[in-house]
Amino acid sequence: MSAARDGVVYLVGAGPGDPGLVTVRALELIGTADAIYYDRLIPPGALDGACEDAELVYVGKAPGRPSVPQEEIAGHLIEAARSGKSAVRLKGGDPFVFGRGGEEGEALHEAGIEFEVVPGVTAGVAASAYAGIPVTHRDDASAVAFITGHEDPEKDESAIDWEALARFPGTLVFYMGVKRLAANAAALIAAGRDAGEPAAAVQRGTMAGQRTVVATLGTLAEVVERESVSAPALIVVGPVVRRREALAWLERRPLHGRRVVVTRARAQASGLAATLRGLGAEVVELPAIRIEPRIESENVRRAIAAIRDYALVCLTSPNGVRLLFEALREADLDARALAGATVAAIGPGTARALAAHGIVADIVPEKFVAEALVEALAEVDVAGHKVLVARAAEARDVLPDALRERGAEVDVVALYETVREQPSEEAIEAAQNADYVTFTSSSTVRNLTEALGDRFPSDARVVSIGPVTSEAVRTAGLQVHAEAERHDVDGLLAALLADASR
Ligand code: SAH
Repeated sequence: MSAARDGVVYLVGAGPGDPGLVTVRALELIGTADAIYYDRLIPPGALDGACEDAELVYVGKAPGRPSVPQEEIAGHLIEAARSGKSAVRLKGGDPFVFGRGGEEGEALHEAGIEFEVVPGVTAGVAASAYAGIPVTHRDDASAVAFITGHEDPEKDESAIDWEALARFPGTLVFYMGVKRLAANAAALIAAGRDAGEPAAAVQRGTMAGQRTVVATLGTLAEVVERESVSAPALIVVGPVVRRREALAWLERRPLHGRRVVVTRARAQASGLAATLRGLGAEVVELPAIRIEPRIESENVRRAIAAIRDYALVCLTSPNGVRLLFEALREADLDARALAGATVAAIGPGTARALAAHGIVADIVPEKFVAEALVEALAEVDVAGHKVLVARAAEARDVLPDALRERGAEVDVVALYETVREQPSEEAIEAAQNADYVTFTSSSTVRNLTEALGDRFPSDARVVSIGPVTSEAVRTAGLQVHAEAERHDVDGLLAALLADASR
């Protein structure tokens, strides 16, 4: 089949494994491709942004089976382009560094197919950097060589010139070098490289579970064997390895090596997850709830129509703020509709969400629970006034009850509902040996414990955002190991960090 116009093939590098090291251009192309042909060593979640109807074809090597032959892959790419598709060939690291991207590009050129190359962050640079090894250094190395360690040194005509590498005045970085490490190191030493030169192996660089072992060129093979370092791993030889003593930033992060479960609704989890990752944690997202907007209800419509009548407007979550403004917008209103009202936010997150809409909250309590908001509102004269409490459907009635007691005429409107979401099997599996489970609301506690049943990771330490959530944890039959003093995400993080450094 031939399309009116041939499609384009993109030879795209997906980086070394950390999803944060995928380039903007790569994400853009993944998001618009009709077909994606991908390898094994691409970052987790790299295909999440693909179109729903994109064809995703695995062309990597499966354990115990031979890899898909190069001609077959090139054939796929050519065929896809000829049928007018935009095809992405997604590879780990950089497509032109031991990625056979050159061969694929040549096959495309021969077939007269237009292609584009998108470089990726190559493992040789990235895994070294994450291990705290600068591949060049003013004092230690003014050159760096990328070498395949896969070559058979017994082969008559090795493409690797060991004499030249032994003399090479700089850092040697071996890809695919674990299996033949002992033989390669011996060949290098025999050719004259100093056996005492520092050397390191970096396993799963930039990914969860990255591990680095350090030895000398003469002893690295033995250490790698003893520590069962396995592929994918990179071998670095040179005095720059010593720089790790000062530069091994990754292992120094406070949550390095800890697996933390985040249970917030997906849309809200990303901030917390990103912060945890930044602290070195491996994050498992296990959202047990989803936010379902309910702003189409009669109740909400009525409150919005009468929005100017409220003397006090109370908001109890960032979601509430977002949806209140959505409801206002649907009624052709904006922040000015709240001009005459006192605006109260239950905590700083909610206050920040308000600020994004141009409203500086008049009242933000020190503690972020309904009781504290009631206290903070003590100075506001509500008797005989109309008050709007805009919140989730299933919230507690502490705030409206207290305000009514003080003579306010309170309208409570549910802007959204939190509904149960079943986490994926994959995520549940990944959560099994978690070190921490974080809870940011009682509804996530109930929903997650119900969703997981006896597969709740019982060895994990539980960190709760505050007393109400903690109570729900205990009601679910679990123990709370740490509770936030400030009942917001920063407070939760602080509690987790304090617990982790026990
Ligand atoms: N095109 C890729 C390399 C593919 S060859 C790139 O530019 O990075 C595969 C080899 O790359 C592996 O055997 C290993 O030596 C190295 N490698 C790839 N990802 C790695 C990682 N995350 N950590 C350490 N080494 C990695």
